[in-house]
Amino acid sequence: MLFITLLQVIFCSGSEITKPTHHTDDGYINNYLPKEKMSKGLATVFKWRFTRNSQTIVDFEQLEPDLPFLQSNRSEETLTWIGHSTFLWQYRGINIITDPHLSNRASPVSFAGPERLSPPALVLRDLPDLDIVVISHNHYDHLDKSTVLEIYEKQKSKPPLFLVPLGMKEWFGNIGIKSGVIELDWWESHQVGNWKYHAVPVQHWSRRGLLDTNKVLWAGWVVEAPDKRLFFAGDTGYSKDFKDIGNRFKSMDLSLIPIGAYAPRWFMKDMHCSPEEAVQIHLDVNSKQSIGMHWGTFLNLTDEPLDEPPVRLQKAVQSKGLNPETFITLKHGETLKNL
Ligand code: ZN
Ligand code: ZN
Repeated sequence: MLFITLLQVIFCSGSEITKPTHHTDDGYINNYLPKEKMSKGLATVFKWRFTRNSQTIVDFEQLEPDLPFLQSNRSEETLTWIGHSTFLWQYRGINIITDPHLSNRASPVSFAGPERLSPPALVLRDLPDLDIVVISHNHYDHLDKSTVLEIYEKQKSKPPLFLVPLGMKEWFGNIGIKSGVIELDWWESHQVGNWKYHAVPVQHWSRRGLLDTNKVLWAGWVVEAPDKRLFFAGDTGYSKDFKDIGNRFKSMDLSLIPIGAYAPRWFMKDMHCSPEEAVQIHLDVNSKQSIGMHWGTFLNLTDEPLDEPPVRLQKAVQSKGLNPETFITLKHGETLKNL
């Protein structure tokens, strides 16, 4: 009995020592945000819901991607903005998609919730075969069940590898994707050939149902190709995490950083950065080229005017004395080549 107790003490105290500080007994917390700020009380949520303004519809210009080229391209580097946080990045013959969302709403139901204002730049059958699908977290504007399932069905003979934050593998298993899903904790990495994929801390939260707040992790991703580094920031408030990421990786060649969903600040600040803070993230991770995302796609996700994020971004870039070309936005459907 004494022996078992001793073992328990050793085991328990050992696991206490090694448990990362963002792991708690009932889920996950951020590195630099006090736990009490992790979830808003009902009164605060109602205050926002009942004081908010509806966004005015904006008719964004849509470009048509060169689909035959994208489908057959295995040599040139391209980056296509499909909408919101969904990008197709083609590099050295590898096709990577971030937070794929091609559905009409960011919602658990098809009849309510933030509706897509700007249609996705392509439909699923137009996508080239994907090698890697990167997921930042489980909010409905980032993890879309029907898009994920359609990608899986379309490529059933050769499914892509799904890279997800810790705890999310179960969700994939529940929808029938039982293999080819790698879940990582912050600072863990997964190697495929000579490419490395790192999950990194960002300041956000998770929830998909009524009782699962922060039960699974959220993350940004650093993709290390042999001679190029991509940073996908996912969804995030501004925090010291980005200086930590900058210290660890020294620089990023290409960064995808959210610039929208920031208003009202009293409600959104902890979890969604402003365009000015996005520029600070660009500086903190020492990014050579950044692209703004998470704007101009879903109606009434938050309160700022839909076309305000790129305008504020441009001003913020200028006020820091940076070359305006180093942090830009794309038109929906726009493809950059040879970045
Ligand atoms: Zn989110
Ligand atoms: Zn989001």
